[in-house]
Amino acid sequence: MRYVSTRGSAPDLSFEEAMLTGLARDGGLYVPAEIPTMSTGDIAALAGQSYEEIAFRVMRPFIGDAFTDEEFSDIISRAYAGFGHAARAPLVQLAPNHFLLELFHGPTLAFKDFAMQLIGQLFQASLTRSGKHVTIVGATSGDTGSAAMEAFRGLDAVDVFILFPHGRVSEVQRRQMTTVAEANTHALALTGDFDDCQGKLKDMFNDHSFRDDVRLAGVNSINWARVLAQVVYYFSSAVSLGAPHREVSFTVPTGNFGDIFAGYIARRMGLPIKQLVVATNQNDILHRAISGGAYTTTGVTPSISPSMDIQVSSNFERVLFDVYDREGAAIAQLMDELKGQGGFKISQGALDRLRDLFASGRCSEEETLAMIARANKEMGELLCPHSSVGVHVAQEHLGGTPMITLATAHPAKFPEAVEQASGVLPPLPERMSDLFDRPERVTRVENDLGHLQELIRGRLAA
Ligand SMILES: *Cc1c(COP(=O)(O)O)cnc(C)c1O
Repeated sequence: MRYVSTRGSAPDLSFEEAMLTGLARDGGLYVPAEIPTMSTGDIAALAGQSYEEIAFRVMRPFIGDAFTDEEFSDIISRAYAGFGHAARAPLVQLAPNHFLLELFHGPTLAFKDFAMQLIGQLFQASLTRSGKHVTIVGATSGDTGSAAMEAFRGLDAVDVFILFPHGRVSEVQRRQMTTVAEANTHALALTGDFDDCQGKLKDMFNDHSFRDDVRLAGVNSINWARVLAQVVYYFSSAVSLGAPHREVSFTVPTGNFGDIFAGYIARRMGLPIKQLVVATNQNDILHRAISGGAYTTTGVTPSISPSMDIQVSSNFERVLFDVYDREGAAIAQLMDELKGQGGFKISQGALDRLRDLFASGRCSEEETLAMIARANKEMGELLCPHSSVGVHVAQEHLGGTPMITLATAHPAKFPEAVEQASGVLPPLPERMSDLFDRPERVTRVENDLGHLQELIRGRLAA
């Protein structure tokens, strides 16, 4: 299995190389050269299997010869052992034909754990074999950072630096990053917003001498291995509602387009998904792009669903690559326009193909709060604000096909908004109840590439 860049001019890589690299050297993102498919029989055979078994069967064709079957199955079982629910990704019913996929039973209470815990185990297995050290730098709008630190803490072969926008993550999110005690984890609070953090991360990857010197590795949602891990719960949930014999649709609270892109891959593999609904908050570039055809940035307005406060959705490039017939040069040009002019227009042909599968909707702050209140009263579910955005938008797309909305975080991660909306203060699960008493460790940094690179080199030398 080979991986190619969406901008067409970086070398093809194996699964393991693409995983350790993250961003391609031409600035593009790695995607499989071909998407393996599963037959109706293969999918039907997933019914009744454990999450881990489904994970093995769905992901195995993508990893090539990176790991033996036995190694890979060990990696998967270690990755999900720390989850607080036997089903890993349980499905609950909200209303007739509307279901909620709870993706918040991992160690940091957001769906990011599904990918990050797996990637931690994959890196460990791979680096132990090669005896190498890597420096992971990640940018987070809140949940990726803690998930990464939790997954990599204490591993000899890895240092993890996480950039988060100072003052723009919830207190629980911040503490989940700043209270990790292991010396190989470094929380950096950057003056700016998430796009600034992501911009600095990309600049570091594009500085090839820095990249090679510190052996930079990326675990942001641009990392292919993360997308792959997220494909699994589309299969597990769809199969439990009757796939492949019944179609399902999904609504996904979306920021960087990683989670919903995994749904797109599931469909390409053969899972009968009728529609994938992109749900955005007031930062609605994707909703505007899918409904109007113009992908234009406008600046981020902070919201009560901060993990979706994004104006440039990195993984959107991956689906554009497909709807532009995998022409890397065309994608490179669109991305130049994005950088130079703050946006681009999607061609009519590409837009039509996007709309064959994707729909979209936007949810305002008021609607987010109202949906939390209503779900608590009428559906017996306490939703986090991100999941609330999803449920609100999903309701505009309910029909004859079962709808599965992804619940991306636990309500206790965003207690202020949830309490304001519902009057209920969601408690943290037992295993985290001392979070507010643990000492914090964080470094303030400016939005400046040279300054950051110096800091990282200094910490690695220490
Ligand atoms: C990361 C995140 C999202 C957005 O997911 P993307 O893959 O970036 O689209 C939504 N909700 C929560 C709680 C998240 O942490």
